[in-house]
Amino acid sequence: MLVVEDEAKLASLLQQGLASRGMGVDVARTGDEAVIRATATDYDLILLDVMLPGRDGIDVCRQLRAHEVWSPTLMLTALDDVESRVRGLDSGADDYLAKPFSFEELLARMRALTRRGGPPRPTLLTVRDLRLDPASRRVWRGGAELALTPREFALLEVFMRHPGQVLSRFELLEHVWDHSYENRSNVIDVYVGYLREKLDRASIETVRGAGYRLRA
Ligand code: CA
Repeated sequence: MLVVEDEAKLASLLQQGLASRGMGVDVARTGDEAVIRATATDYDLILLDVMLPGRDGIDVCRQLRAHEVWSPTLMLTALDDVESRVRGLDSGADDYLAKPFSFEELLARMRALTRRGGPPRPTLLTVRDLRLDPASRRVWRGGAELALTPREFALLEVFMRHPGQVLSRFELLEHVWDHSYENRSNVIDVYVGYLREKLDRASIETVRGAGYRLRA
């Protein structure tokens, strides 16, 4: 996902908080940077502050929609700024959240938005004997709950949203790791290995030259 926020302290709090939940987070500090990043990468979600130096959040949103970037966008506005909220929604934002907000409310809004976008997604993902609850970050195999790290959980969630589909290493990286992660060569292979140990070895197939597939 992409966080667009010029206030360094809030940006870093958001990045740390979201990363600790296993999300790959890129940060843009200006509107121009946001447009460049969001047109280059198909983000699952964009968290967009309205008050930015130069090009503001409303203008960013309008630009993105004009470029046919349809990533679900949650706009951050000042508490009493009704006009920005209205203009934000008119510019193509999907929802807004007034500052200051609690982290839990932010997560709830993000879940609601990612459920709303694209094909309808069930709140509980089920593939064979695996069940995964994105809201509570819990996963079960049969009746037994599995203990996964945030990265393992995020990787499994991507697989479970695309059961039976071959996902390339690049696609998996894009969803789970952020752009600052440079050592891309084998990180996915390593984490797929961890997941296989915790699920079972046959659960994730290697598709030579293409990537990985969760058995449906
Ligand atoms: Ca700001």
